[in-house]
Amino acid sequence: MGSFVHNIVVDGTGNITTPFRVLVIGGSYGGLSAALNLQDLCQSRAPRCGPGPVEGQQLDKPREIAVEITIVDERDGFYHLIGSPLALASESYAEKAWVKFEDIPALRSPNIRTVHGSVQYVDTESKIATVVANGGDPTTSQIQYDYLVASAGLRRVWPVVPQSLRRKQYLFEASEHIRASANARHGVAVVGGGAVGIEMAAELKLVQPQLTVTLVHSRSQLLSSEPLPAEAKDASLVLVREAGVDVLLSHRLDRTEEETSDNGSDKCLRLHFTNGHTMLADQVIMAISRPIPSSSFLPAQALDKDGYVRIRPDLAFPADVANGDDHFAIGDMVSWSGIKRCGGAMHMGYFAANNVYRRMVQRIGRGGEGDVKELKEIPPMIGLAVGKKAMSYWPQTGVAMGEDVMEAFFGNDLGFTICWNHLQLGESRVVA
Ligand SMILES: Cc1cc2nc3c(=O)[nH]c(=O)nc-3n(C[C@H](O)[C@H](O)[C@H](O)COP(=O)(O)OP(=O)(O)OC[C@H]3O[C@@H](n4cnc5c(N)ncnc54)[C@H](O)[C@@H]3O)c2cc1C
Repeated sequence: MGSFVHNIVVDGTGNITTPFRVLVIGGSYGGLSAALNLQDLCQSRAPRCGPGPVEGQQLDKPREIAVEITIVDERDGFYHLIGSPLALASESYAEKAWVKFEDIPALRSPNIRTVHGSVQYVDTESKIATVVANGGDPTTSQIQYDYLVASAGLRRVWPVVPQSLRRKQYLFEASEHIRASANARHGVAVVGGGAVGIEMAAELKLVQPQLTVTLVHSRSQLLSSEPLPAEAKDASLVLVREAGVDVLLSHRLDRTEEETSDNGSDKCLRLHFTNGHTMLADQVIMAISRPIPSSSFLPAQALDKDGYVRIRPDLAFPADVANGDDHFAIGDMVSWSGIKRCGGAMHMGYFAANNVYRRMVQRIGRGGEGDVKELKEIPPMIGLAVGKKAMSYWPQTGVAMGEDVMEAFFGNDLGFTICWNHLQLGESRVVA
């Protein structure tokens, strides 16, 4: 395949009339942030996730640039991943947590299109992505681009994350799971005391208080693999217990066996631990597997040994990848310091948008591109929802926990409204 060259056409007034083509892979926190902040900049507005204006300070308005943004996602909508523990415990919340792209006002713009498909391959040299459509016919198509932002996150297993790719199918998946746990007479065991296991156990207990929920962890402390101070780990244990969840620490699951009552009518599972302890449960939720970056469509040269994208501080691909300067990666799929968080993904989306915009202005050859945004080292920080309360650890403020922390970090819907508003997804800003 030959190299794709963008022909820039300048009209009599000096405006660029041939749009730059930007491909965003993944329409979640990172991808939507990149797409919408870029849209702002290209429409000569302050980027929505950037710092607000300082009183009295005159900032240069970004230069208007024609752009066409294509967002490809395997799902048919934005799924509020953080809300998964609640979406898989409450049917009404499940309805709220997945919004089809066509129902997001901010994406209603003639120069933004969404494609429901899976990116299979990216040729960074020719700047062509191969996409297989999801739903309907599995047709393959190719998308040419000038700049690419990858925000495809991590592959996570069921039931940590729903596996459905359409909203309708997801609602069935969630509802079946919720009904199965509601009927669990012997209770539910959640295996894995990391952030995901803690949140899943606590949300289940919150929504179905009659249920016995046991959180099982192989180590002596919750959040044992996170680079957090012991105080944060201890605080999470206090909150989990307060939420009414039974906790078994230092219990490593060996195997589960199906068990049937004497009259054969009652089936459940017996969990055997390596320390000899056993317990019964009707449902076992495994929240222990290590997620894998969704990066198989990228050239191996761009990835580290674990499949994370080796970004530079400006979020661009490594310089030894063909056209590395025109390819960016953000969010969970990148190799960078810090605990993977949605706030980090949205922040990187803003930086990537800024830096793509900057490349465009440089390409056109007229100044005013603004500063390049570079990531600094991100220290460990976390906000963890545990039932009605939350625990947070921030390097500047240390550990905090309580209902006020829940309100500040998650509001009353596990952060859905906070993320929705931060990305201004409810606002359509079509410029005539
Ligand atoms: C259960 C759970 C609870 C969490 N709780 C919190 C929390 O309380 N606070 C917090 O800050 N973070 C939390 N996180 C982490 C947070 O969800 C992630 O950091 C965040 O989702 C990262 O955003 P992203 O845009 O990088 O990736 P994702 O949100 O994973 O989005 C990736 C998108 O890419 C799409 N995609 C993947 N591969 C392809 C492909 N080949 N082609 C097309 N599309 C593709 C996916 O469908 C998806 O929509 C939690 C995570 C989980 C699983």
